[in-house]
Amino acid sequence: MLSCRQMTELVTAYAEGKLSFGDRLRFQMHLGMCRHCRRYVRQVKVTVRALPHVPVAAPPPAVRDELLARFRNWSPGPPEGVPP
Ligand SMILES: [Zn+2]
Repeated sequence: MLSCRQMTELVTAYAEGKLSFGDRLRFQMHLGMCRHCRRYVRQVKVTVRALPHVPVAAPPPAVRDELLARFRNWSPGPPEGVPP
């Protein structure tokens, strides 16, 4: 049996349809018995749908390298605490 705390950890995956069959079953069993979680899940589902799809992937290596090079060149002098 899932605890309410475990429910909050699974709810995003549930709303996105990423739970395994077994997890979804346990999730829905808890939902059937816990109206607090039912309300919570409903809110999360609305939020997930409202959010635009935001990719969380890191920037491509070329972009990252260029940024790092700019940070290096930007430094006006040696950082504090580092001997020249
Ligand atoms: Zn609950």
